[in-house]
Amino acid sequence: MADLRDFCDRLWKGEIDTTFEAHPVTSPWNDRQAEEIADGVLFFKSVASANTIDTGDGLVMLDTGTRQDTAVLHAGVRAWRPETPLAAAVFSHHHVDHIFGLGPFEREAEEQGRPAPVVYGHETMPWHFDRYSRTLGYNGAINTRQFIRPQGDSSFRMTWPDGYRYPDVVYRDRLTFQRGDLHFHLHHTRGETEDATWTWIPERKLLAPGDLFIWAVPNAGNPQKVQRFVGEWAAGLREMAGLGAELMLPGHGYPIFGAERIEAALLDTAALLESIEGQTLALMNTGASLDTVLHEVQMPEDLLSKPYLRPVYDHPQFIIRTVWRLYGGWYEGEPDNLLPAPRQAQARVWVELAGGVSAVLERARSLADEGDLRLACHLIEYAALAEPESGAVHELRTEIYKRRAGEQTSSMARGIFTFAAVSSEEGKRDGFA
Ligand SMILES: [Zn+2]
Repeated sequence: MADLRDFCDRLWKGEIDTTFEAHPVTSPWNDRQAEEIADGVLFFKSVASANTIDTGDGLVMLDTGTRQDTAVLHAGVRAWRPETPLAAAVFSHHHVDHIFGLGPFEREAEEQGRPAPVVYGHETMPWHFDRYSRTLGYNGAINTRQFIRPQGDSSFRMTWPDGYRYPDVVYRDRLTFQRGDLHFHLHHTRGETEDATWTWIPERKLLAPGDLFIWAVPNAGNPQKVQRFVGEWAAGLREMAGLGAELMLPGHGYPIFGAERIEAALLDTAALLESIEGQTLALMNTGASLDTVLHEVQMPEDLLSKPYLRPVYDHPQFIIRTVWRLYGGWYEGEPDNLLPAPRQAQARVWVELAGGVSAVLERARSLADEGDLRLACHLIEYAALAEPESGAVHELRTEIYKRRAGEQTSSMARGIFTFAAVSSEEGKRDGFA
């Protein structure tokens, strides 16, 4: 416990790096050892956190981990409270790193003839489980791209889990249940997901924000995933900040101890989201194209440099696109892209105009060597589209995307660039094609 508090303190002060060492969405420093961090509160951190509260009349879990966590989480809880039944669980949202821990507890209840734990979730959660079932292959592909390791293991493929534990009790705006001495106030705020729930336990001054706070730029812009809700998210964070919480257990990353720190973390995150949404809407209201908006929004660097708001997972520019998608349509304001020619046909014409693929490769290399990897990526894509079988193209493309990945702090951006590099190593533009 002293170790964890010290770790959290150093994290807060920015003494521990979140880009790799304490990245919020990777497995943790203590190899998933569950740990009592306050009286009757068992903290468990894997990819996501899964926290167990002893109410004095049964346990309640706030999130329950991934498939890979099921056995180790159950063992951790049972080492802590060998006999106490699990009465309930709250799923903060439908994502697969939060919902797979109940199996062993349900089997226990059945064997002992006790009531099964009651699962609480938002009313839109079943729709999202159904959505997953319809898009298993898509989710396998996009999460392979997102989570491929920086060193680029080309054999890495993620399969998406099927079969979900649907909630027993759903609610729309708020729901309170009591267990033992504690009240669990469930609040709905659309944020990273449509079905996000945050939980407030006033008797303990304990706040579980789910993925509305994750020790990084919020996952509000994820390029491959469904709509996020930036402004409502910020409003929810402001509501949480007014509660006077003294212990916050984020959906990812480590606990924050102390009311002042919790308030600062929540309000700064809200301010970041509001700044990006506000600027994006102001530009949209002038009729600007998406291209203009992407390059004219000024990122609030003072906020992005906070140890708990660094862009180590999502990229702040991606959030602009989320806002565009929510308030606008898919048309980005470029008339040639409204009913476009296939990208390969476009590329062939440009490469021909450039005098052939070797001229394009030469320019791509010089741009990369000048440090303009962004433009180098555009050129190498045209080359790869025009001549998809060319070994020289894939060799340079591998190098350019490895370098591009290497300069990203955002692991989402790094993952997609790394996937492009390892695909070219296999002689393909996209490893799934
Ligand atoms: Zn999560």
